[in-house]
Amino acid sequence: MAATSKSKTKPGTAAAGGRGPAVGIDLGTTYSCVAVRRHNRSEVITNDQGNRLTPSCVAFTAVDRFVGDAAENQAALNPSNTVFEVKRLIGRRFSDESVQEDIKLWPFKVVAGRDDRPAIVVQHEGKVRQFVPEEISAMVLTKLREAAEAYLGEAVKDAVVTVPVYFSNAQRQATLDAGAIAGLNVMRIIHEPSAAAIAYGLDKMPKASGSNAAGGRMVLIFDLGGGTLDVSLLSVGPGVDTFEVKAAAGDTHLGGADFDNEMVKHFIKEFVRKHGVVEGEVMRNQKALRRLRTACERAKRMLSFMPQAGVEVDSLHDGIDLCTKISRSQFEELNKHLFVKCVDAVAKCLRDAGMDKDAVNDVLLVGGSSRIPRVQSMLHEFFQEKKLRQSVNPDEAVAYGAAIQAAALSGGGEADTKNVVLRDIKPLSLGIEVRDDFTMSVVIPRNTFIPTKNVQRYTTFHDNQTKVSIKVFEGEGASTMDNTLLGNFVLAGIPRAPRGVPRIDVTFDIDTNGVLNVYAEDIDTGEKNSITITNHSRDGLNKEEVERMSQEARSYNKRKRVRSLITSGNMVILE
Ligand code: ADP
Ligand code: MG
Repeated sequence: MAATSKSKTKPGTAAAGGRGPAVGIDLGTTYSCVAVRRHNRSEVITNDQGNRLTPSCVAFTAVDRFVGDAAENQAALNPSNTVFEVKRLIGRRFSDESVQEDIKLWPFKVVAGRDDRPAIVVQHEGKVRQFVPEEISAMVLTKLREAAEAYLGEAVKDAVVTVPVYFSNAQRQATLDAGAIAGLNVMRIIHEPSAAAIAYGLDKMPKASGSNAAGGRMVLIFDLGGGTLDVSLLSVGPGVDTFEVKAAAGDTHLGGADFDNEMVKHFIKEFVRKHGVVEGEVMRNQKALRRLRTACERAKRMLSFMPQAGVEVDSLHDGIDLCTKISRSQFEELNKHLFVKCVDAVAKCLRDAGMDKDAVNDVLLVGGSSRIPRVQSMLHEFFQEKKLRQSVNPDEAVAYGAAIQAAALSGGGEADTKNVVLRDIKPLSLGIEVRDDFTMSVVIPRNTFIPTKNVQRYTTFHDNQTKVSIKVFEGEGASTMDNTLLGNFVLAGIPRAPRGVPRIDVTFDIDTNGVLNVYAEDIDTGEKNSITITNHSRDGLNKEEVERMSQEARSYNKRKRVRSLITSGNMVILE
């Protein structure tokens, strides 16, 4: 295996002047957050409702479109046209197993669009309309951009947007496309845990005693959000501000909503027992369930600060009110099995990195659900208490760090933010299909730093085989049928020989931008062929589509402005 070269990516070039400050955006599964760094400090930007977090939620009605708090507030009345968790869809195929599973749980409709892309179907302005996930995310990004513009009093064009470590090329590219549709220039996509580490200023920390071989700090980021758990191990520093992702683990379906669900199940049982109603009927009452879930979420947040919380829902079912309470210890008992999973994921992350927990210097608590006391105490028990850091608001840390990175990239940042450098990893394994039974042969294992290069030797499967087909896949499946085909080519001209005799070297070479070159060479004849797989050789949106959607977004906003002018009784002057 060839050595992995250690190199750093250069921070982007300075943005052109007069564009307003660059912002940092945490585009979350359940909540999004925008922050800016100016006058030497970072600030989280409040939205038009005065909230620091904006629900990643978009709703459509006969006459309007709502984004954020307004969308979430009307969700119970309009469930089939209220779209959320679109981060679970972005850059994925409709036929993906995870997409199929998620669709079963959502009250809104998702269908297969062109090229196996998911399309969200809603009723809007009296018509049935379809949107791709990029467009929905763009609506959330537009909301954040507008909030930033109102707050800063100037146009905002440039942004750093964060993504989970495990996002594939297609998911990253789709996030970039969402930014473009929202009229943003996404200067860089950075990993959520790297952003959190920047927010904590760990790049400025002195070298830790007993630190890892490279001499940096070993930082574990525990990010428990609304629907996902992401655990990442980063090596930070020393000296040069370098972040390296060592390993990542987690659960894409474990988060705040699961704790809410356990509470919902508990209260429905209690309600059925107390009032003798039929459980199935309550479970079918979508609006009742939604109102109960909202009440449970509120109680859950209270339980992070108080030993007990009340849960009240007027006329939950059959005109009967739900009026009850829950203690923190009851809540902990209900979710015990889920909390155990959280610690298991931490252990798995360390195992994947081949690292002992004593080697971890800092543990960062990130994500709204990391506020839950039991989650914190279990992490205290697992690590030593002194390692836990929670001084930055857990649901704001990612946006905060992204804002620091944005300031550094736009050149407007102070000297101390200029040197922030991130080294990326390739989160998914890359390899080729071998034999005739769809076996995946991994050439670059997951969690490998990029840039990277690796050569593997292969041979023929049949006697007198004169050509081999090199099919490049991405994914963790042992069978290529479970993985994503990125591209393929043929190496021909192999001299006839018994199977197993020809020697064919296959090289995977990934540069700093994540572009993958695959070469195949017959060692005995020097015959070669290759393929280049860029972020664009995928089934995502093409340039024209992004441009069209971006224009549609602009024209929608214009129509909205005209409408609000009419409503406020002003004269409309057309351009
Ligand atoms: P995302 O998943 O989009 O990254 P966040 O990190 O903001 O979102 O996490 C949102 C989740 O955090 C929600 O499920 C919310 O109920 C939960 N949460 C927020 N504050 C608290 C709290 N004080 N106690 C418990 N859970 C909380
Ligand atoms: Mg998050």
